[in-house]
Amino acid sequence: MQERPTVLFIGGHDPSGGAGIQADIETAQALGCRAASLVTCLTTQDSRNVRALHPQPAEDLLSQLDCLLADIRPQAIKIGLLGSAQVILSLAERLATPGVPLVLDPVLAASGGQRLADERLVTAIRRHLLPLTTLLTPNRAEARRLAMTAEPDTAARELRCLGAGAVLLTGADEARGDQVINRLFHETGEQDFNWPRLPHSYHGSGCTLAAACACGLARCGDLVSVTEQAQAWTWQALAHAEHPGHGQWLPRHLAETEP
Ligand code: PLP
Repeated sequence: MQERPTVLFIGGHDPSGGAGIQADIETAQALGCRAASLVTCLTTQDSRNVRALHPQPAEDLLSQLDCLLADIRPQAIKIGLLGSAQVILSLAERLATPGVPLVLDPVLAASGGQRLADERLVTAIRRHLLPLTTLLTPNRAEARRLAMTAEPDTAARELRCLGAGAVLLTGADEARGDQVINRLFHETGEQDFNWPRLPHSYHGSGCTLAAACACGLARCGDLVSVTEQAQAWTWQALAHAEHPGHGQWLPRHLAETEP
């Protein structure tokens, strides 16, 4: 059997299982990749909202990363929730590896409303991580905050000027009507993707989409088809979502492999 590409996921743990590292690992498994994972922080949360973040000490996280990278070279890296600004500069120094695509999901707030990044973290992402990013996947609110610009499309273009190679601006957080429009801003242009709007509110959709993009890039796909296929796959995981708690619906990543 052929070896699967390894994708390194750097993000937080969500005990509800809908978002974070668990969403990443399930997505990788469904899409034929091997997941390596570094947990930046634990969280106290349920399917309704995040209540607290518990970041790992920066030196612990970095020693885990150094140990892993000395042994395994991933074919792509995805960064999600960071939880603290402290670790970013050292992380950026280690991840500046030419030839390894980096997907950055700038998790600044939970869809339940809780803020997950302070201004120091936003500034550190802007300064140290955007220049390393192959594909940035903000929703509209995240794009505005990261670019400090009110209009989302202008914000996405500004984020490319700040160093992101491409930006997939997702529209579900502010969708009106029966369509969700995601827009890809890349080197050679801008492209819209329209998706029928699903009926519920979902927890972990952004993590799932960014993870699927990282898997596509690990398989050396071209950016436009990778982002399109990742959206289609995420739409399916949301269309089959489950509602085990009292809050949002949780994506079903492994539906096709279930007995
Ligand atoms: N918790 C963790 C660990 C996450 O990584 C994320 C999103 O990436 C969230 C919570 C918030 O997820 P959502 O915005 O889908 O509610």
